[in-house]
Amino acid sequence: MTTSIGVVLTEHIVSGRLTGSLGQQKLEGELLRYPSDPSETEALIGVPAGEVYDLLASEITPLIAASTEPVAAVGVAVPGIVRNGVVEDSPNLQQIKGVRLAEALGEVLHSQGISTPVYVLNDADAVAAGLAASGGHLDRLIRVWTLGNGIGFGRWPYADGVWEGGHTVVSLDPKERFCGCGGLGHLEGIMGNRAMRLRFLDMEPEEIFLSAKQGDARCREFVDLWHRALAAATASAIHIGGPGKFYYTGLNVGFLELPVVRGYLEAMVKMSPLQNYSLEVLKEDDAISILGAGVAALRAQSW
Ligand SMILES: [Zn+2]
Repeated sequence: MTTSIGVVLTEHIVSGRLTGSLGQQKLEGELLRYPSDPSETEALIGVPAGEVYDLLASEITPLIAASTEPVAAVGVAVPGIVRNGVVEDSPNLQQIKGVRLAEALGEVLHSQGISTPVYVLNDADAVAAGLAASGGHLDRLIRVWTLGNGIGFGRWPYADGVWEGGHTVVSLDPKERFCGCGGLGHLEGIMGNRAMRLRFLDMEPEEIFLSAKQGDARCREFVDLWHRALAAATASAIHIGGPGKFYYTGLNVGFLELPVVRGYLEAMVKMSPLQNYSLEVLKEDDAISILGAGVAALRAQSW
């Protein structure tokens, strides 16, 4: 038996304790959540990094204290480019950009008498790891698109690289300039919430998709573009990394019409060895990311 803690830091913090052998980790007990009200989505905006470490520690310490087994690892999933415990960039959680999160959180925990190693990974990679772990397929390549404020691209198993699939260039139109990173023609500049608000100014993403259903021509045209962009980025991922299993999840996955993406994708991927791909929609589920964060943290120790 091995025990680990998985934590996900996005617009909220959720955490849980996992037990079982490495290939069979399962959530044990309740998930902890900050803020406890799920409708509160801006609680972490502008919170300084030092306070974020304290908030994370306050979620982790009770889980460790309540564990009957020693805890082998803590995995923390965050949005952005994460390498070697450092958050190199995080456009949607600016205050943690550049911080040595694994080291800083480790120090806060250490000051409270906890010496469990901390591993930090990208939040979309945690979803991919969680899907691999929950299906018992830690040996299989899994890729995940997370559709939300930003667009995340996760993969399991971990492979060194940047993997910022959300910033895949899907348009050569110079007017496509709404990506949070400032780059032209990016997937997130079409699909992300911030980008949709900048494009429509007076409409929320929900209203855009509703108006499209009701026949508004401009919204309908955009919803087509939204799906075509996702198909284009998926086609690029297939042409670079090969076919296989792709999942779509995240806050905005309810907007997704999978047959529409599939239709565009069929027109974009024509080489027969690459057509052996499958697409699946998953409802957003914190428990999958927590599982993935814990499993990835354990796996990182065995390297
Ligand atoms: Zn971008």
